[in-house]
Amino acid sequence: MQFWKKLTQEQRQQRIQLALQQNVNFSKDASLGYPASKLDSRVFNDDAPFLKDAPTLQTYVANPNNIGCHTFGTSEKAFSGTQEIEREVLNVIAVDIFKAKENEFDGYIAPGGTEANIQALWIFRNYFFNTYNAKPDEIAILSSEDTHYSIPKGSNLLQVEWLKIPVDFNTREIQKDQLEQIVENAIQNGKKYFMAVANMATTMFGSVDDPDIYSTVLERHNVPYKLHIDGAYGGFVYPFSNPNSNINFSNPKISSITIDAHKMLQAPYGTGVFICRKGLIENVLTKEAEYVEGMDLTLCGSRSGANAVAVWMILFTYGAYGWYEKISVLQMRTQFLCQELDQLNIEYFREPFMNLVTIHSENIPETIAEKYDLVPQQHNEHNKWYKIVLMDHVEVEHLTTFIADLKAAING
Ligand SMILES: *Cc1c(COP(=O)(O)O)cnc(C)c1O
Repeated sequence: MQFWKKLTQEQRQQRIQLALQQNVNFSKDASLGYPASKLDSRVFNDDAPFLKDAPTLQTYVANPNNIGCHTFGTSEKAFSGTQEIEREVLNVIAVDIFKAKENEFDGYIAPGGTEANIQALWIFRNYFFNTYNAKPDEIAILSSEDTHYSIPKGSNLLQVEWLKIPVDFNTREIQKDQLEQIVENAIQNGKKYFMAVANMATTMFGSVDDPDIYSTVLERHNVPYKLHIDGAYGGFVYPFSNPNSNINFSNPKISSITIDAHKMLQAPYGTGVFICRKGLIENVLTKEAEYVEGMDLTLCGSRSGANAVAVWMILFTYGAYGWYEKISVLQMRTQFLCQELDQLNIEYFREPFMNLVTIHSENIPETIAEKYDLVPQQHNEHNKWYKIVLMDHVEVEHLTTFIADLKAAING
């Protein structure tokens, strides 16, 4: 671990204080030109005593704007302190967790995984436009049918067709022969450029796609392609539970990754992380963004520097080993639930390195699903699955009462 350390409360507080000092201070400095200020002081008092020991809330009240991309070129001077905090977060995620080389990636903290995924598709689409003079109908997006709906959303926005690859009902694995067939048909119908999205844990099943399935098929057909990893769900779990994984930037075929800090890292909403290799993000430069110092290479405009601080605080409170321990506990709870289900002969899907169990719905009475807020795959009569996500607040005690209820319902 090059960047990821565990810091004491005092060290963390000092680091964030320094960052806030390096930003413009709307309480003291004569800052006339920005349509920005600290939060309204009639509502958000900036010298409330509890703020002293709460760096994230302090930043929230100071209200810095981390607009733009801070791994590339120059940036807005007024918020250089919280931009640096953002770079420290990106270094931990890109270099320490996802094995990029230092200074060889670009990225930013997006409002969410949806934007981070669409940012990837937008970059790839424009890369094909700029590099090959491609037309929109010559480009296709490939991903499994279990893919998050942000991909069809991006397909609709960017006007690039999405080709959905079927998965096996029980293993949730991409059906290779179907993928082969779909790519072949697409090429016959005039598609020349492909962007594939592999999941590092799908939302409903926690299944992890093998990204090499896409690169193998696309290289066999000799077509230009780009490969994105959607790690919105599993990005803070899978690399720790499966340290030998090479679904990261050590795989030269992978161009970009989405990781949500507001799911498994338990950061506040507004912390989807986008990271890509150098040389790509320029494809979405908006030249017209002249009032923003430096270049705007992001889909959103303004975004809070407090989000960067919140993610930074979590990462540097745990440190790499602390986080590894937390994930190990979630893995043990998942294991416990699976053993109990095995004893009841209840069928389920579980990716061995994920904290998610998706149970065949025929085994779960509706009353139990309702009582425990289990999430169905489909909110209608065709539903076949219910999922249980082993989050921090889902403890073994909850699981034992769930299992007892389930047993009673089945036997009664
Ligand atoms: C949640 C999720 C997203 C979208 O993330 P938001 O932060 O809700 O925009 C994308 N992909 C996967 C796999 C997800 O689980």
